[in-house]
Amino acid sequence: MTETHHSTDQRTRTAVVTGASSGIGAATARALAAAGFHVLCAARRTDRIEALAEEIGGRAVACDVTDDASVAALAAAVAEAGDGALHVLVNNAGGAFGSDTVDEADVEDWRAMYDVNVLGLLRVTQALLPALRASGDGLILNVGSTAGRVSYEKGGGYTAAKHATKAVTQTLRLELNGEPIRVSEVAPGMVHTEEFALVRFGGDQAAADAVYDGVPDPLSADDVADAIAWVATRPAHVNIDELVIKPRAQAAQHKVHRIR
Ligand code: NDP
Repeated sequence: MTETHHSTDQRTRTAVVTGASSGIGAATARALAAAGFHVLCAARRTDRIEALAEEIGGRAVACDVTDDASVAALAAAVAEAGDGALHVLVNNAGGAFGSDTVDEADVEDWRAMYDVNVLGLLRVTQALLPALRASGDGLILNVGSTAGRVSYEKGGGYTAAKHATKAVTQTLRLELNGEPIRVSEVAPGMVHTEEFALVRFGGDQAAADAVYDGVPDPLSADDVADAIAWVATRPAHVNIDELVIKPRAQAAQHKVHRIR
């Protein structure tokens, strides 16, 4: 048998990864490319995504998920690259801004977190749904967090946003039932990426380092990317609803083993 159905042919499948310029997104773009996808790497820092796209034979698309016109340009790039079809969308762009009690939190930090983690996901999903439908076998994979399951002190804005990510994922799965689109969430615990904590603490490297201090082997971006690629390469009828992934040292959000 030589003929391969288009929708199940990994070699011709197209994927979009938002927030592909660093951390989990960059690792995911590499993992999906290794699994045979043509990957569109989307983020704001074009120098980084251009280098990554060259490395993996993909395509860089400058995209700010908080900007309608920018997301429309991503949809146009998808239409061109995938011949109108998109098989995998990884909504990964996101992050935490600030670490304050609800009492003292900056409303603008909360607004920015909701904008990128929730409304960004909404904008990109809405713009790319036609291409996902056209593929006949689409997957929307949202990168959530254990912060979307458990609340913690000084994390109110981020935990609220990631709880929303989870809620939107569940809603989408209900609304798309009957269509050829799977909807999944990969929710990591502690992942030691270069920038996540640094962004959260406004560039304070000491505060960022303290998050991981003494933790033997937090997850790496590659660990999470591996899980995402696994979800994306299950057969079309297999929907992994949610995959929570934590390092062995993190038994629960507050229960982290530290050796010093
Ligand atoms: P990074 O800070 O390394 O990556 C964040 C990515 O999001 C960057 O590529 C950044 O690119 C992109 N991004 C931010 N804002 C926008 C925007 N407006 N438009 C487009 N892209 C944007 O963090 P991680 O890799 O650690 O995190 C990736 C995802 O995983 C996030 O959703 C995060 O919440 C989640 N997560 C992280 C965990 C961790 O412990 N690290 C744990 C659980 C979940 P650029 O600035 O170039 O636009």
